[in-house]
Amino acid sequence: MNDYEHPPRDSSAWDNPDFCPFCGHELTDGGPGFIDHVESDEHASCRERFEQWRENVASDIGEEWSG
Ligand SMILES: [Zn+2]
Repeated sequence: MNDYEHPPRDSSAWDNPDFCPFCGHELTDGGPGFIDHVESDEHASCRERFEQWRENVASDIGEEWSG
């Protein structure tokens, strides 16, 4: 399961993913299915990585919007 790569941070794959960007698990319902997936205790590691990713995006935006 280590042959999977994250999509780029600004990729459209994040908008309506057919699969989890972290573990490659197939999602049943795009975006909502992805949230269900990361909120599941079964996929706690995905949740951690998703939260980390969101923090990274937020900090990037904060820097870019400083003006
Ligand atoms: Zn996952």
